[in-house]
Amino acid sequence: MEEKNKGLNTICTHVGELEDKQYKGAISPLYMSSSYAFDDVDVKRYPRYFNTPNQEGLCKKIAALEHTESALIFGSGMAAVSTALMAFLKAGDHVVLQQTLYGGTYNLVTEEFSKYGIEFSFTKGWEAKDFQEEIKGNTKVIYLETPSNPLLTITDLAAVASLAKNKGIISMIDNTFASPVNQNPVDFGIDIVIHSATKYMGGHSDICAGAVASSSENINRIFQLAKNFGGSLSDYTVWLLERSIKTMGLRVRAQNENALKMANFLNDLDDIDAVYYPGLPTHTGHDVAKRQMKGFGGMLSFELRPYVDASVFQKSLKLIKSSMSLAGVESTVLSPTQTSHALMSPEVRAAQGISDGLIRFSVGIEEPEDLMADIGQAIKKAKLETAIASDK
Ligand SMILES: *Cc1c(COP(=O)(O)O)cnc(C)c1O
Repeated sequence: MEEKNKGLNTICTHVGELEDKQYKGAISPLYMSSSYAFDDVDVKRYPRYFNTPNQEGLCKKIAALEHTESALIFGSGMAAVSTALMAFLKAGDHVVLQQTLYGGTYNLVTEEFSKYGIEFSFTKGWEAKDFQEEIKGNTKVIYLETPSNPLLTITDLAAVASLAKNKGIISMIDNTFASPVNQNPVDFGIDIVIHSATKYMGGHSDICAGAVASSSENINRIFQLAKNFGGSLSDYTVWLLERSIKTMGLRVRAQNENALKMANFLNDLDDIDAVYYPGLPTHTGHDVAKRQMKGFGGMLSFELRPYVDASVFQKSLKLIKSSMSLAGVESTVLSPTQTSHALMSPEVRAAQGISDGLIRFSVGIEEPEDLMADIGQAIKKAKLETAIASDK
């Protein structure tokens, strides 16, 4: 059966599963072996060669989910990002990266690339023309994120892909925020798709992993470096990730629905200045998002009005936790000013549209009414405390 023709939840549940020939168990057996005989087979299986039975099975599932020929799984999202980038860059090459990058990727580029003689530029905005402006004669890779962190900006995938193709440049996307449920960038011409599987693929805040999906030719090129860098994932975690992805379609679609409800709820509150969610018709990227996304995702952000103290608000939440990570079945929030963007100067933050009252919200699968009640009581408490503090 052609795997690409199966529906989302069928791929999530079944593609790449291993058959338990010995006991006929319902799920993939876990092969923890790090040593495989090669007397009668020519494949030398070894965890760091990315070819144990469980790794190969899960790679098939991820490739089917992203509509690609092939995939690789890594020990973390950053192992996937760094290996994919380095596989296509060498000394003297140049890469164009989106300005609003995931913090770890920004650190990788700014702290490491100069050591290897790799040049880089950041875009000034997130539109295709912003990428075009930074392209030089030696540009080999364009790297983007859409929806981006934390303002959920939307970049036109088809436009960036055709820009890259015309110039013979490889295009790469960090597709973590959308997940393969909501966005398949390869369908719009993007070459390489990267995920932090720690997020929606894992979905339960108990796995750290990464994935790259692309053509077999690109994946083979990345593999050649990956086996030397050694960023493979433990087979136990591979097995756990396979189990998690079985429910990814159900989880993410529930999160899409909840996020839209929460975005509308927040939009109607007087104590909220702005809501950033690509599913809202008022969002700057709504029309492009409608074209390239199947769902608008579970991530949104909102700005509390200046008279609502953001840290009191966060501390007052009872059901929703404050957390650095995202995409779990549980709802979490964070303040970019106090965490991911704390090291930036207030001016740089302001230039990127990140105010002190901005809250990033990873919407979980709880009942939306309970999330609304929690936010309502936390705003009330934060307003009261802010009022008392200003009276003193
Ligand atoms: C978390 C994250 C990463 C890095 O993934 P790790 O699994 O933490 O290494 C990369 N990109 C995005 C968008 C992320 O959210």
